[in-house]
Amino acid sequence: MAECNHDCENCASNCADRTSPQSFLVPQNSKSNIKNVIAVVSGKGGVGKSLVTSLLASATARRGFSTAILDADITGPSIPKAFGLKEKVTGDEEGMYPVTSSLGIKVMSLNLLLDDDTTPVVWRSPIITSSITQFWSETVWGDVDYMFVDMPPGTGDVPLTVFQSLPVSGIVIVTTPQDLVEMIVTKAVRMAGLLNVPVLALVENMSYLECPDCGKKIPVFGESHVEDTAERLGIDTCARIPIDSDLTRASDEGLIEHYLGSFLDGVVDKIGAVR
Ligand code: ADP
Repeated sequence: MAECNHDCENCASNCADRTSPQSFLVPQNSKSNIKNVIAVVSGKGGVGKSLVTSLLASATARRGFSTAILDADITGPSIPKAFGLKEKVTGDEEGMYPVTSSLGIKVMSLNLLLDDDTTPVVWRSPIITSSITQFWSETVWGDVDYMFVDMPPGTGDVPLTVFQSLPVSGIVIVTTPQDLVEMIVTKAVRMAGLLNVPVLALVENMSYLECPDCGKKIPVFGESHVEDTAERLGIDTCARIPIDSDLTRASDEGLIEHYLGSFLDGVVDKIGAVR
């Protein structure tokens, strides 16, 4: 166990004299100056969390902020593919260097370290968690105004440890219409409350399909409840993203940062990325 240094805010010892709760925050390295960390979470996989992370980062970078993505979805990393990143992470004695997208977004993801990105990651949670904290503390990030963390889905061991290790300043919750009526969103909000992290916005993905002929919005997965749910849970910003084959194509072809939808503008404002 670490020795008590009599400064509870910065001490790893859990001794009897402790006056404030033990901090599990992992410090940044001397080559990184990350100002805001925004976690993008979902109750389960496949709802579009990585897509929303990519769109938020792209919109933030387009507003002129230095932007980064830490892909913490270790077992299902999809950020490099969405941005069409082919380069691999390099490193030297200073640390690892993230790969930069064409808009200048710095990306760190396990898939940028693997020789073959179809290799399955069959790791236990302590190994997954330590790879995420290494991405945070051993990457030469430089100056970053906004880092978006594509979190592992759910409220289990790995997301919990990530929340305790990284100084997350706010959460964006991604969901689909059928999940909103269930308890998934409430669980994510309550987890954020337990961890004392504000929920900045609720995003309903695959909210509707717009008929290409008449423009009618068809609620394929059921009626939208995003506004009611946000109000009930005290979240003041919400957004809806339609099902759009251009979005699927852009992320499949590695061109997500060139997709120019304005669906998330209010969320980017709320995050504080306003010039
Ligand atoms: P998650 O990170 O929650 O597992 P992804 O962001 O990887 O989910 O999305 C899963 C798949 O669904 C991806 O192929 C993505 O391009 C597609 N997708 C997500 N949202 C939409 C949308 N609104 N319209 C069309 N395709 C979408």
